Amino acid sequence: MSGKLRYFWVAIVCMVGLFVGQVAFAAGVKYLFLFIGDGMGLASIHATELYLNDVNSEQVGKEHLSFTRFPVVGLMSTFDAGSYITDSASAITAMITGQKTRSGIINLDAERTRELTTLAEEAKSAGMKVGVVSTVSLDHATPAGMYAHTPSRNNYYEIALQLAESGFDYFAGGGFRYPTGKDKSQENIFDILTQNGYRVVQSRQEFETLTPPAEKLVVINPTLDTSSAMPYAIDRSADDFSLAELTRKGIELLDNPNGFFMMVEGGKIDWACHANDIRAAIGDILDFEQAVAEAIAFSKQHPEETLIIVTADHATGGLSLGYALTGSTLRLELLENQKVSHEVFAQTVKAYAHNTPPDKQSLQNFWPVIQENFGLLWLSDEEKAQLTEKAKAGDLQAAKTVAMAVSEYELARLEEAFAASMSGEIPQNEEAQLRYEGYDPLTVTLTHLMGEKAGISWTTYSHTGEPVPVFAMGAGAELFDGWYDNTDLYAKMKQALAITAQVK
Ligand SMILES: [Zn+2]
Repeated sequence: MSGKLRYFWVAIVCMVGLFVGQVAFAAGVKYLFLFIGDGMGLASIHATELYLNDVNSEQVGKEHLSFTRFPVVGLMSTFDAGSYITDSASAITAMITGQKTRSGIINLDAERTRELTTLAEEAKSAGMKVGVVSTVSLDHATPAGMYAHTPSRNNYYEIALQLAESGFDYFAGGGFRYPTGKDKSQENIFDILTQNGYRVVQSRQEFETLTPPAEKLVVINPTLDTSSAMPYAIDRSADDFSLAELTRKGIELLDNPNGFFMMVEGGKIDWACHANDIRAAIGDILDFEQAVAEAIAFSKQHPEETLIIVTADHATGGLSLGYALTGSTLRLELLENQKVSHEVFAQTVKAYAHNTPPDKQSLQNFWPVIQENFGLLWLSDEEKAQLTEKAKAGDLQAAKTVAMAVSEYELARLEEAFAASMSGEIPQNEEAQLRYEGYDPLTVTLTHLMGEKAGISWTTYSHTGEPVPVFAMGAGAELFDGWYDNTDLYAKMKQALAITAQVK
């Protein structure tokens, strides 16, 4: 073949390739799910798998979270325009607009001047329905990242107003941080939502009657914490929604001939990791996984048209599967002993401090409450020695019991933390910051001890800077393979949706 002729054939093949590519993309993904485990770094994902393994199975490595079995796994860097360690606001901006910005900013550029269009807005303009589901308040950084444009994530009321203006179809999860503004002088957001055609649903009974064709909806969990977020999964009652229920209802209500884009956030995975509470984090990761399972079930009916992405905006807490005093042993099953989250337990500590006369307050007096909620045991040296002997002889129950006994060193830390919790006087020094940050001293010491007994440890109360995994399944999943930046996630999702660029 002459050189010229070869070029001719190469050109023809390329043109056919381009054409086929265009046709494939023109079909586009009709149902896009973006699941964001806020703060859900790789170590927390795997800790959850190991916990399941320890609790359910004799066979090491048998238990997996559904999404860690997805056919495509990528890695995504998360640094933002101002720091190697991102916050949730700049992270969601990167993922949903493809642009880096600074921490605290939602969907504006780093200079806080130019508004950035979000993929959710583009999907809405293209005729798709849009759903936003989160366990935290609907005006919190990650859900706000779908519809809001603001120089500060703390502008909760302004963000809520933008939610009401978004025209998106389904909001579900927590409530609003300041429904009448921070100074309580503004028009009630619930009135504005009604004026804008939204129906607000706040009870299980009403929720269960919702069927398509739906009005525009805002579904709020019947109980909320002091930040207007849903309770942790570990603390929920039967009246509370699970993230899976909110996702399933969203699928049912959003399904339509033009398809939908739904973002589902496990928002308190991050909060549990900030508080260094591994048991609460695992509970919320399991709750999050059940929500992913709803999308997987739906995708089985629409395998050619559904794309499911599961990722995190950053990792939190510097979680390590290992601890200096436990060597190479992990015993995540010991976390089963913890019955409530740090959030609920801190309230119990506060109530005890408030209701018990100072001369009656003691760690020993409070111990039954600690034992009930964390399974920790205050044993004498003889008791420990006897149990250790039995454990050595193969008594599994004795081994489990002695594993929950507190050591002298642990007791000393608890005594100090107890005193700080009771007096409310926390020294303003580096040591106190390292031990407690702003958390209730006794509670955070207990969640640290639980982690240490299980063989895990934390290095910070903040976010960390390592890349996060991206799991993908369904149409276009192959786009998410490899190592890339969080801004690339936007371009990849957009390519999968085959939405053409909008003129801004
Ligand atoms: Zn985050």
